[in-house]
Amino acid sequence: MPDMQNEIYGHCTVCGLRLSERLTYRGRNYCRRHLETFSDDVDPLWQTSLFILGLLLAVIVALAIAGQFFGAEVTGAPRIILGVAISVLPALLWLFFLTRLAALREVELSPLLPTMFVLAALIAAAIARPLLFEIIDLDGWLAQATASSRLSANILLGGSIHAFLLYAMVRYTVWQTPSFEHRADGVLYGLVTSWGYAATYNTLFVFDYGGVSLVNGSYRILTQTFAFLVTGLVLGYFLGRNRFEDMPFYFMSAGVALAGFLNGFLFYAGTELNNIAVNLTSDGFSPWPGLLFNLAFLVLTFAAVYGLLRRHNKLTKLHLESISA
Ligand SMILES: [Zn+2]
Repeated sequence: MPDMQNEIYGHCTVCGLRLSERLTYRGRNYCRRHLETFSDDVDPLWQTSLFILGLLLAVIVALAIAGQFFGAEVTGAPRIILGVAISVLPALLWLFFLTRLAALREVELSPLLPTMFVLAALIAAAIARPLLFEIIDLDGWLAQATASSRLSANILLGGSIHAFLLYAMVRYTVWQTPSFEHRADGVLYGLVTSWGYAATYNTLFVFDYGGVSLVNGSYRILTQTFAFLVTGLVLGYFLGRNRFEDMPFYFMSAGVALAGFLNGFLFYAGTELNNIAVNLTSDGFSPWPGLLFNLAFLVLTFAAVYGLLRRHNKLTKLHLESISA
């Protein structure tokens, strides 16, 4: 009676296969293959991300040195080229090296990564930007607001909208497909969409300002990129967990709220910290504090998400060994 069996054992959470035996993990059904593999790590993801982080550190130092030689100001077309390069190249290099490293190690990555990258880039231009700058006029708001209202506006308007769009992009496309087959794939999709989204968002920012200055402008772009990557890491963690086990009903909403809060907070900190007190009576500007703060926050978030996922994966493997033994 095959029909009755289907009723009893259900379908695999990952691939949707009809199950002929009962295999579950925390309220979800799995086929044998996916029960054993969903807790596998995706090593090239972490290695490539660390490599690109190191590369960005080198770029930060190189820009500071170049600023000493050429003066802070570049003019004309190089301003635009510099801004677009800082906005787009790190994202493309991340995707390129990730794909290459996975091919070398014979790790199978989702073929949808480039598609998600492009989708995120389009959504940043077609939805996030008109919504934030034409309908809500976030910049006009921020220009007149006090520091505490700027913090709330960054979190409640900017951060929440960015986080929700990035979440929805993954949740309503790949999240429920067989292409989302590991816990770590949450971070994979969270990061690929954040990179694509940040690349467009920052490129449009560059065009708004007619390019960027060598140090201050390019550091501003990197500061914003770091805020988006933190958002992607946090969303990725929550999406990755929620995909493979039953979590409390508020779990995912809490994740989106946290990601939105951090995005807005880092956008705020990334600019406000740069207004430094020079002495008791006058204020100055330094491009460093915001950049270093957001960079440090990104490194900590990366370490935390990596550590948590490794721990969950290890516990899952131990649990599966204990029930099969
Ligand atoms: Zn399966």
